[in-house]
Amino acid sequence: KQRVLSGIQPTSDSFHLGNYLGALQYWVTLQDDFDALYFIPDMHAITVQHDPKALRARTRVSAAQLLALGIDPKRSTLFVQSQVPEHAELTWVLSCLTGFGEASRMTQFKDKSVKQGADNATVGLFTYPVLMAADILLYRPHVVPVGEDQRQHLELTRNLAQRFNTRYKKTFVVPEAHIVSGTAKIYDLQDPTSKMSKSAASDAGLLSLLDDPAVSAKKIRSAVTDTEREIRYDPETKPGVSNLLVILSALTDTPIVTLEQDYTGKGYGDLKSDVADALVEFVTPFQAKVRGYLADQGELDRILAAGAERAREIAGNTLAQVYDRVGFLAR
Ligand code: ATP
Ligand code: MG
Repeated sequence: KQRVLSGIQPTSDSFHLGNYLGALQYWVTLQDDFDALYFIPDMHAITVQHDPKALRARTRVSAAQLLALGIDPKRSTLFVQSQVPEHAELTWVLSCLTGFGEASRMTQFKDKSVKQGADNATVGLFTYPVLMAADILLYRPHVVPVGEDQRQHLELTRNLAQRFNTRYKKTFVVPEAHIVSGTAKIYDLQDPTSKMSKSAASDAGLLSLLDDPAVSAKKIRSAVTDTEREIRYDPETKPGVSNLLVILSALTDTPIVTLEQDYTGKGYGDLKSDVADALVEFVTPFQAKVRGYLADQGELDRILAAGAERAREIAGNTLAQVYDRVGFLAR
């Protein structure tokens, strides 16, 4: 089986519908055909100011959500990054292969450090892409599904892998960028030309999976549409309606063309109420499962510990080769 690796940061109290329909839904299906490794990059989460208590809670709630969505710890390896020390260890070696100028060209650092104020940006935020390269290279995955915003970081990862292989000895698999494009992109309900994001200025257009379903239903009923009446998929001129169609299509597994036919002669109110129903139907059992996992923290922590142990078998093996090849004494 080919190996796939992906991670999602524990930086919010809940995943949102965009995370699910754009990424996590595929994580679940990839388990069938791949040896899948999924991790929660808590070390990345401290590259910006954070609250330790919130981080711990969010790491657990992230794990609970992944399990509730169908990540099966018997078939996949689900782990927390900081519980696998090889990530930090390989980062150091890769840091010593990364050019200062090369790292300086990473656009995400530029964007985020502007947001933080240049003086508040940390060296950790600067070297974040090197940690990400270590995350990936430790496991020698064939496929790394990442969003468009991570393309540059994946390119750096490929360069570092090639550089190490050339300078020392072939050690790393140069991973293929698998830019996820076939997946649904979900837009903000209030501003349907921007993607749904946890960092949006207002959360009026954000559907968090753990929000009270009644609140989410209300947000859907207040979603921005347009002044026409016709329900059809046309993201250019009808971004709001198109977004609702994409959501309904994904949640009910119905092609958009079928939905367009079903809604001829019906109004936006009908569409919104069906989207709201579909969302409530999806999140209600999901939330019950999440509560179940969180109710038994001991068991949740055991699942993560077992995942970390499995991850370490792979990561430890890669790191031992790396250490040997750069000339460190065996431990
Ligand atoms: P941030 O605003 O901090 O970037 P985010 O809400 O975009 O946060 P991420 O943690 O960056 O969430 O994304 C996690 C995963 O969810 C990524 O694979 C990303 O591509 C996907 N994703 C995020 N938002 C959407 C969206 N609106 N539609 C589809 N996929 C999305
Ligand atoms: Mg993002």
